[in-house]
Amino acid sequence: MKIGVLALQGNFREHIRTLAGLGVEAVEVRKPDHLVGLDGLIVPGGESTAIGRLIGLYSFEEPLRNFQGAMFGTCAGMILMGRGGLIGQVDIGVDRNAYGRQVASFEADFPLADEEKPLRGVFIRAPRVTDVGEGVEVLAELDGDPVLLRQGRFLVASFHPELTDDTRVHERFLDLVREDMHVGA
Ligand code: GLN
Repeated sequence: MKIGVLALQGNFREHIRTLAGLGVEAVEVRKPDHLVGLDGLIVPGGESTAIGRLIGLYSFEEPLRNFQGAMFGTCAGMILMGRGGLIGQVDIGVDRNAYGRQVASFEADFPLADEEKPLRGVFIRAPRVTDVGEGVEVLAELDGDPVLLRQGRFLVASFHPELTDDTRVHERFLDLVREDMHVGA
């Protein structure tokens, strides 16, 4: 299995480190032809405006929209993958920087679907999911707001699972990649 991490701006190194810790080969994706042969792709958090500008500059928009493997977006990555985002694909409305200025960044524990142990989420100027389309499954919520969601081969999180030692969200993404490879085979 080979996973790419979009390496234009933001937390791509942290995702690669987490995947390496799970024994998975992960590569930096800096040009559209780096997408060839990947089974999955992570679009990291950072600054969605900056990442969006670089997506335009490097002609990544079409190749990202056409990517056929599983895709996981965190924070800014979720903004780009949501409704109206440059990559689109996931049927959710997203409000950027929706958490107030005072509490722009915080950590919180919340339950994860089908698990006993709660998950700790690191939220950094996090986007808020404002509405969820029919085909989208909510895997975790914080105070009534969806924070981890899945639609088919797409996974999105408003927090940063690459910044904690808990690897369960990345493991779920890898399950999705395997499932998708199986379906595609
Ligand atoms: N607020 C950022 C944005 O709008 C996202 C923050 C993050 O990815 N940590 O792009």
